[in-house]
Amino acid sequence: MTQEELFKKLISHCKEYGFVFQSSEIYDGLSAVYDYGQNGVELKNNIKQYWWDAMTRLNENIVGIDSAIFMHPQVWSASGHVGAFNDPLIDNKDSKKRYRADVLIEEWMEKQSAKITKEVTKAQKRFGDSFDEAMFLQTNPRVVKTQEKIDAIHNRMATSLENNDLAEVKKIIEDCEIACPISGTRSWTDVRHFNLMFETKMGSVSDDANTIYLRPETAQGIFVNYLNVQKTGRMKLPFGIAQIGKAFRNEIVARQFIFRMREFEQMEMQFFVRPGEELEWFEFWKEKRMRWHKAMGFGDDKYRFHEHIKLAHYANAAFDIEFDFPFGFKEVEGIHSRTDFDLASHQKHSGKKLQYFDLETNKNYIPYVVETSIGLDRTFLQVLAGAYTEEKITKDGGKVDERVLLRIPPALAPIKLAVFPLVKKDGLPEKARQIMDDLKIDFKCQYEEKDSIGRRYRRHDAIGTPFCITIDHQTIEDNTVTIRHRDSMEQERVDVSRLREIMEEEVSMKTLLKTI
Ligand code: ATP
Repeated sequence: MTQEELFKKLISHCKEYGFVFQSSEIYDGLSAVYDYGQNGVELKNNIKQYWWDAMTRLNENIVGIDSAIFMHPQVWSASGHVGAFNDPLIDNKDSKKRYRADVLIEEWMEKQSAKITKEVTKAQKRFGDSFDEAMFLQTNPRVVKTQEKIDAIHNRMATSLENNDLAEVKKIIEDCEIACPISGTRSWTDVRHFNLMFETKMGSVSDDANTIYLRPETAQGIFVNYLNVQKTGRMKLPFGIAQIGKAFRNEIVARQFIFRMREFEQMEMQFFVRPGEELEWFEFWKEKRMRWHKAMGFGDDKYRFHEHIKLAHYANAAFDIEFDFPFGFKEVEGIHSRTDFDLASHQKHSGKKLQYFDLETNKNYIPYVVETSIGLDRTFLQVLAGAYTEEKITKDGGKVDERVLLRIPPALAPIKLAVFPLVKKDGLPEKARQIMDDLKIDFKCQYEEKDSIGRRYRRHDAIGTPFCITIDHQTIEDNTVTIRHRDSMEQERVDVSRLREIMEEEVSMKTLLKTI
């Protein structure tokens, strides 16, 4: 199965099993807007809890807030979003498709890098154990030439974006002979800027004074509350403020399902530190955030860091954590050293002092900030892509069967326990309900009595339920049930009184948090 086929399957799986629906589907949908279904919302809430607890429980010096989506319009002038929250866009005249110019160039560079990787693999095969990769990369003429080409384009792109030289960005696209993936032609418009913020009007009088924006990031709600939290929480540097909430961007190229949406959710944490210590904390949070991702167990090789070529207007260091999606390695989280840009700018625009008095040094200063900013929807997609598995099972008698399962980390699974009475009579449904009533306060359980047990297993494999229990006639006699494990499909007979303990051990958030 190609990665493209896998991605298509994943998208239809999301719909079929109540994870993600297109927004307003009965009206043919709204582009790049999605709704979460009955299982999707559970998974999403669990991811939020995993992040929230990792931030606000495991770190004594991080507290949370929940700020409004609407903010004073001056916030966005101060943050630079009114002036600089722009993407360079370019249109292909033949296909009429619009692209982000920087993304086209980055994709070109990735293609060139892939050529190098291919050469390395070929040489590895040829030379076997004696192969010295570092030496090969330095000396093979074809590889050296390709790498030089990549480096040169990389530098030209960084400089042109830095200087806002859009004509040069177009020239790079032409020099690299980049063609539109749809029309295959190189007939491009000039590169233009496009502001990504959605505008709306507040109040009944529609003039410019009432224009407000839907926030394009949750971070600014944290910055404008910095002093409130610091004072009322008597917080001492270093400390962090975390927030989960909706953000809105009028993305030019909205595609790849929930990877790039126009309405999405972010989980952001701003960590306030002493000026001069920011790069140390930047390293600290880079590593710590990577551990959070890897603890979900999809394989360490699925992640990598990517250093930003073009730093945002506020940053002095920036790395992304990328996940290996079916459409390649792409950003799920950004870790940015934002300096004192935001607080200093809000201090200037609002006229309110946003300073910290450091008792140790007896000095007043504006703190520096290290930000961790992760997309909830992209993490959701990461979990589904990492968990989606098709498996062949050889049954007794040699018959081969197939199952689709989601190996979602148990703590994040939408349903933790499925409860099945073997048959719909002989008091088994009543017994099953009784067991479920006892457990449902602690764990999300689902009762199912329709279809064969095998079919019920398959349905729950497909939504990632880690445990299914079956109540049969023996249960009535000795109070034991069969518990079946999702990944191994192993079944064991256990006493009903042990269920809570088994579940607690395997599916609680505590278990996952301990592995970070
Ligand atoms: P990209 O380069 O992919 O547009 P970005 O660098 O603009 O992303 P940030 O501004 O750093 O993204 O936002 C932080 C996180 O928010 C991203 O890592 C991503 O997970 C998430 N995010 C940003 N834009 C979107 C979007 N349109 N849809 C879904 N998630 C998004």
